Amino acid sequence: MKVKILGGGPAGLYAAYRIRRDVPGAEVTVFEQNHAHTTFGFGVVFSDRALEFLAAGDEETLSLITAGLERWSDIELRVHGQRIRVDGVGFTAIGRLHLLDILRERALSVGATLIDSRVVHDLAELGEANLVIGADGVNSLVRRTFEPQFGTQMTLLENRFAWFGATRPFDYLTQTFKQVPQGSFNAHHYRYAPSMSTFLVEVDAQTFERVGFEQMNEEQSRRYCEDLFADELEGARLVTNKSIWRRFPVISNQEWAVGKHVLLGDALRTAHFSIGSGTRLALEDVQALVHALAAHPGSVDDALGEFVARRKPIVDKLAGAATRSATWYDHFAEHLNQPAWEFAMSYIGRSGRIDPERLRAMSPRFVDGYEAWRSTGDAAVVDKTMGES
Ligand SMILES: Cc1cc2nc3c(=O)[nH]c(=O)nc-3n(C[C@H](O)[C@H](O)[C@H](O)COP(=O)(O)OP(=O)(O)OC[C@H]3O[C@@H](n4cnc5c(N)ncnc54)[C@H](O)[C@@H]3O)c2cc1C
Repeated sequence: MKVKILGGGPAGLYAAYRIRRDVPGAEVTVFEQNHAHTTFGFGVVFSDRALEFLAAGDEETLSLITAGLERWSDIELRVHGQRIRVDGVGFTAIGRLHLLDILRERALSVGATLIDSRVVHDLAELGEANLVIGADGVNSLVRRTFEPQFGTQMTLLENRFAWFGATRPFDYLTQTFKQVPQGSFNAHHYRYAPSMSTFLVEVDAQTFERVGFEQMNEEQSRRYCEDLFADELEGARLVTNKSIWRRFPVISNQEWAVGKHVLLGDALRTAHFSIGSGTRLALEDVQALVHALAAHPGSVDDALGEFVARRKPIVDKLAGAATRSATWYDHFAEHLNQPAWEFAMSYIGRSGRIDPERLRAMSPRFVDGYEAWRSTGDAAVVDKTMGES
């Protein structure tokens, strides 16, 4: 079986490895426009157990990724001059490039062919194939080629974001919200290596316009954000890597496969970065596809049918949570009208997945702090409860 994969991101590289390893006789080729060892962005975050699914069938890759992870157990919200810690919400993070290098090595180790620095403009360039995998991200050529058949839906969120790095670690996954005369700003910042952090800046549309980010180049935006978040950076620098301002596209497809073409990862559906699940979903897509291919060695059609039937209900559920979280962020400037603790409670409940009982079990100190604030309205009591701020 000849498998052609467009895109050498997490979905494409992991698919190359697993198909070559698990599907007897598969010849696998990946086409990637970037040079090897380059990518966009900085670190990506996972919830602390997000990658455990890899243990079923791929302990080796799991342990390679695990060795490169930074870990922490609390979220810190910085809002209205307060620091509120949400305890017990475990996360891990890894440099995107580091992750890609691991997956690349895995794919090469089983004999997949990786063609780098090759922009594909037309699917005919992929040559003969029994299966074509669109792992080519949000602007997927595979998806656009068959857009009506896939039944693609795409909406752009209103907020603008730019993905910077910061030359310092942070102790927690930190969300800083700032209101200044120019408007409302949010930074998602967390370390992904001992001395480096992701520093993703998000603004609402009005702020974007008022500040004039549209007219700034990458370096001017970097400097502006570095000055604005000087207190958080404490002398560290912001650094760029294709850190242009973008609007997040919420993508979904009615059909996941059209003939021998199937979509995986961001090409198939995006999950807003605020729930830290896009990369995991991409890897899970691969695992599900490979199971289906291995179970139906004689028929790509049957394999794709099984892949979609098993995977779609799971993804649909998570997509709902991601969309709710994204919508909350798109209105973060309005949420900032609330007092800090109310804002924090709204933040933690934004995806609709955590009921009060679960929240108390998971984050008892946070819930104690919130209730103390509710009953006294006294920040001093709250601060004592939390032992910080
Ligand atoms: C700002 C931001 C922050 C994020 N943070 C997180 C996070 O913390 N945690 C998390 O899990 N996820 C995060 N994500 C999401 C995550 O990056 C994606 O879900 C993940 O990269 C999806 O993997 P993929 O392989 O499907 O797509 P991609 O990683 O986008 O890979 C697609 C690849 O295809 C290549 N390609 C595309 N078109 C062509 C072509 N025509 N020819 C050749 N090559 C092509 C591209 O160069 C790219 O390498 C974030 C996303 C953004 C935008």
